[in-house]
Amino acid sequence: SRNLIVAANWKLNKGPAEAEAFLDTFIPKVDAFAGSADIVIAAPFVTIPALAAKLAGNNRIAVAAQNCSEQESGAFTGEISTAMLKEVGAQYIITGHSERRSIYGESDALINAKNKKILAEGLKPIFCIGETLEEREGGQLESVLRTQITEGLKDIDSLEDVVVAYEPVWAIGTGVTATAEQAQDTQKFVRSVIAELYDQATADAVRIQYGGSVKPGNAGELLGQEDIDGALVGGAALEADSFFGILENS
Ligand code: 13P
Repeated sequence: SRNLIVAANWKLNKGPAEAEAFLDTFIPKVDAFAGSADIVIAAPFVTIPALAAKLAGNNRIAVAAQNCSEQESGAFTGEISTAMLKEVGAQYIITGHSERRSIYGESDALINAKNKKILAEGLKPIFCIGETLEEREGGQLESVLRTQITEGLKDIDSLEDVVVAYEPVWAIGTGVTATAEQAQDTQKFVRSVIAELYDQATADAVRIQYGGSVKPGNAGELLGQEDIDGALVGGAALEADSFFGILENS
């Protein structure tokens, strides 16, 4: 069975000092907690070294970046490479987040290139997909997700190091959570698409997180669903108490 993976996505929040203060509260709670979920914190680039330093030797909490370049090196002003992220201690990198798709215009092809680069570096993508409300209400839920999955994972042979995150755009930062049933139904569909593209064993093994207004009060029901293997948490992961509250309910 699939081990849960619960990740914080801090987005554009927390420099090194705030991140260290978070960990001062968070680490002792995790140390005293018997649960087995994998825990990941995705921080702004400049915060990653401080997190990695404080988490050296901690094998329960991993560090993630929120983005990377699809390029190796060279004249790409403002970009950060997977090799650099690996050097400073990132193990996971978020790709395809709806904020990057919609605000920064990232295409499925670019996201695919990033996923391939991350895997070639020996790191793990947390690959996000999700539909807008307009798409869901317009009956395009399945076609949108199928395209995102097919294009984003193109030419990737193994999903062993890939985590998928289903984040309905309408549930991100809105306080509106998908119902556990909506999330379960959709994630079951996502898994079925992966079974078609790969095989049943791959689909059974891949972890699919849910993201979108997850908080301590709804985490238990969401994470209790058959096809929900973890959470990707924004707002409620900014405070150690509430992020831990989600873990406690996992
Ligand atoms: P919220 O938990 O703030 O809705 O954000 C979800 C998200 O986008 C995580 O990547």
